[in-house]
Amino acid sequence: MMRPAVVSALPHLLRLSRVSRASMVERQRRALQRLVAGVGPRVPEVKQRLARAGLERVTNLADLRRLEPVERADLQVLDLTSRMMPGLDVTKLVRRQTGGSSGRPLVVYRTPLEEHFINLYRRRGLRLMGLTPRDRCVTLVWPGNAERKLLALGLRRFLGVYRDQLLIPDESLEAATNRLEEIRPSVLVSYPSILDKLVEDRRLSIRPRLVIAGGETLLPEVRRQVTEALGARVLNHYGMTECNQVAFECPTTGHLHIHDDAVLVEILHTSGEPAGEGEQGEVVVTSLHSYAMPFIRYRTGDIAIAGSTACECGLPLSTLFDLRGRVSDFMIAADGSWIHPVTLIGVMLRVLGDRVRQFQFVQETRTLMRLTLSTAEPLGDAIHTARSAIEAVLGAGVIVEIIDIGKQPIDRLGKHRTCISRVASIYDEYDPLPLSP
Ligand SMILES: [Zn+2]
Repeated sequence: MMRPAVVSALPHLLRLSRVSRASMVERQRRALQRLVAGVGPRVPEVKQRLARAGLERVTNLADLRRLEPVERADLQVLDLTSRMMPGLDVTKLVRRQTGGSSGRPLVVYRTPLEEHFINLYRRRGLRLMGLTPRDRCVTLVWPGNAERKLLALGLRRFLGVYRDQLLIPDESLEAATNRLEEIRPSVLVSYPSILDKLVEDRRLSIRPRLVIAGGETLLPEVRRQVTEALGARVLNHYGMTECNQVAFECPTTGHLHIHDDAVLVEILHTSGEPAGEGEQGEVVVTSLHSYAMPFIRYRTGDIAIAGSTACECGLPLSTLFDLRGRVSDFMIAADGSWIHPVTLIGVMLRVLGDRVRQFQFVQETRTLMRLTLSTAEPLGDAIHTARSAIEAVLGAGVIVEIIDIGKQPIDRLGKHRTCISRVASIYDEYDPLPLSP
């Protein structure tokens, strides 16, 4: 059985500050080479892509770039045997399911070894963000995400390593708030939408040292509110079910450090060309230690600003300068051209800035775009400016309707989908089920 090289990874996991950038780059290259050599001949999905690219092996990033990227919808239509190493007993594997923000969740399998190994990178990220074994850490998740977290927490508690607690709040957050007051955690880990709601009424008297937010886009306004209400440092992290934590915020510079030795991250323009430093593109990942079910050049639909390979803090990890949220659907302009959701989000944030706490674009028809906003303060005349700016992007004939719902959250369960098109979705052609009967 092919498996990740665990032992040789330990120095990087334990003492990253002593690792040189050159050694990190070489480690990533070797992990990539090993992964493709292992799964390429055995997993049909990968084998076919290698064949189409005319590649026998992948020894470096240049080779990898010849391989066409794959997206969730491409994998959803395949049966498990096309996506997995042969000979595995799925009942002995760890099963994960993505949140389904594209409408249809994807099942992810890993061997227990892979699962724990990949989780060590997450622990490394949390440690480098400031979490210590002495911390009383509370993780708050929405009910749908609880099950898998419970498993991970159970193991850690068994090992006695981390004094973690898991809270699954109900709608009102009442019980969770009371429990937090009892536990008085020094570190709080949660989704921006939960944190936002927790601090809304300013009733919470806990003063954690550190708040780690992830799973959804952390808008500047939410970060500011949480920082102010709890008096804590708020740091962001980024990950996905397919490969666990991908990047974590550097406490020194605020950029997001990529776990280069666990995940190979590319930021690509829509043309497929790599984005340069400071440029925006889609996050495409290769999970370097996922052998049972490989994710190679996997398009995440998330948008980020490409960072640099060096950070002032001295860690040998490359960075993303920023995350710009998820891409669910493309929108259609009046002239029929596709509009990248990030364009709309960018225009909206430029006009409304920090006052927006949550937002959701829904293109109802070719001529009607609805934008629902949860805001920190009344928008006043800015709402008209925003409407004109968005209408200008979509072209004459498209009406933009903006609904300000004030402080009330838009979507309380699971991942918040920021852009939905009811006109046409890039996922439509893969969906065998009609949208309406
Ligand atoms: Zn740094």
